[in-house]
Amino acid sequence: MSPLLECQRCKTHYQWERSQSALRLTYCGVLCEQADLGYSIEGLIRSEIRRSPSAVVLDVEKIVAGCQLELLSR
Ligand SMILES: [Zn+2]
Repeated sequence: MSPLLECQRCKTHYQWERSQSALRLTYCGVLCEQADLGYSIEGLIRSEIRRSPSAVVLDVEKIVAGCQLELLSR
């Protein structure tokens, strides 16, 4: 069993595996994440992708290219 964490917002004790939040080590669930941040990370990522899919793809390609360079330089 994993240790109980305390939700930063509602102070509930919870197991992180059961949290639906993207920040599951901080919040007990999406609702607390959303209420505290004013948005949900998942929603933010999704709206970013909807707004400019090509930009996101470029970012991912940059990250992948960076990883490959790092691997090659080893
Ligand atoms: Zn909470």
